Amino acid sequence: MDEMTQLLLDIATAPSLDQAAALSLALFARWFSASAGCVTLWDSELNRHIVAASWPAELAGADGAMLRRQALALANAARQTELNRSDQATHLEPLSEDGQYVGAVVLFDAACAGPSEALAQLRRVSAHALAVQSQLGRAAREHSDLVSERERLQHLLAAVEQQQRTIDQLLAAERQWSTSLEARVEERTTALRDAQARLIQSEKLAVVGQLASSLAHELNNPLQAIQSGLGLVISEMSANKPDHVMQDLHVIQAELDRIGTIFRQMLDFYRPVTFESRPLDLNAICEGVRILMRKKLQEASITLRLQLGAQLPLTCGDSNQIKQVLLNLVLNAAEAMPPAGGVITLQTIHNGQQVCLCVIDTGVGITPEQRNRLFEPLFTTKTRGLGLGLAISQEIIRRHEGTIAVQSAPGSGTTFEIVLPARKQCHEQS
Ligand code: ADP
Ligand code: MG
Repeated sequence: MDEMTQLLLDIATAPSLDQAAALSLALFARWFSASAGCVTLWDSELNRHIVAASWPAELAGADGAMLRRQALALANAARQTELNRSDQATHLEPLSEDGQYVGAVVLFDAACAGPSEALAQLRRVSAHALAVQSQLGRAAREHSDLVSERERLQHLLAAVEQQQRTIDQLLAAERQWSTSLEARVEERTTALRDAQARLIQSEKLAVVGQLASSLAHELNNPLQAIQSGLGLVISEMSANKPDHVMQDLHVIQAELDRIGTIFRQMLDFYRPVTFESRPLDLNAICEGVRILMRKKLQEASITLRLQLGAQLPLTCGDSNQIKQVLLNLVLNAAEAMPPAGGVITLQTIHNGQQVCLCVIDTGVGITPEQRNRLFEPLFTTKTRGLGLGLAISQEIIRRHEGTIAVQSAPGSGTTFEIVLPARKQCHEQS
């Protein structure tokens, strides 16, 4: 390989634009025996030439700068007029690749020498090497632009994701808050409604109570007079009156007794009770109720079972009143039994800070509509009922700071659950 071919190969394989420009310039300068020169490249974005290499290397300082300015002016002028300019002082060699203008070699103090075929080859190789290197440079710049754009987008994406996470968290918190708010509003509304219902009920109870007790009081005296008069008549007539008259008189006597019982109950129920708060023995109260009710329940084929909890915690209140409540519930349970009878269970259960007292029956059950009105004073489904038992019972349990609730479905029996708070000691209350 001759020296020229080697030099052309070096230009074509130069690893950078600077080196390709410097090698081309050196060869051109040698060719034209020039004293100095520059390689300028056309920058289509900036629309002007820039200097890619100047020669010789030691040409620095003010001289070098002037030389470069001159070379640029010549190259710009030559590109505008699209002329190859040469005179005895300078030689301008335009470089094109595939018809695309790449730049120019500007030589000073040049004298033409060498075969023109070889010069054409030098031109081609230089133009190609510079075009390729410029493209590579542009591609590298675009690549690094893309890389930094990608990094910028990645940062942006990370920021957006972070923001999204924050928004999600805020939304979740807001959802949670509004759910709990709804629940709280619901809770308060229910509490308010309950309080209102209780208020109406106790007012109703008070009015009815006053009326009933004054009526019962007024009617009780004449009733007693009638009862004792009737007793006397029966005892005087019993010897010589026919059976049917005596039977009628006994029916009258039984009905009067019933009226008397109702009056007594009314007076009992509505008499303002003083509240004694003493330790309660709930199991003993259950036993007492069983003894009191035994005969009546036996007649109706009803079995009364006790399931009593051992070592119940202390509960306080008025034993008589609690017994009254329990009697009311057992009586109702018995009245709800079918003619074939059934089972009533009394339970006492220790449950955390509370004691539950349950009356469970296998009776006919209660419809949802009835259940809503169960504790209303004077609500009854019985032809001979007063509708006071549950209203009074609820009032008594409320005074004991307890609750009374019912679970029932038609045909599957009924459970009344009284819950009383466990105490550390008992105080007198009113
Ligand atoms: P009364 O017993 O005078 O009707 P209550 O206040 O004791 O009044 O009871 C109200 C109503 O509740 C009853 O008429 C009855 O419809 C219903 N009830 C109460 N306890 C039961 C029960 N264990 N099983 C079915 N219904 C019941
Ligand atoms: Mg009743």
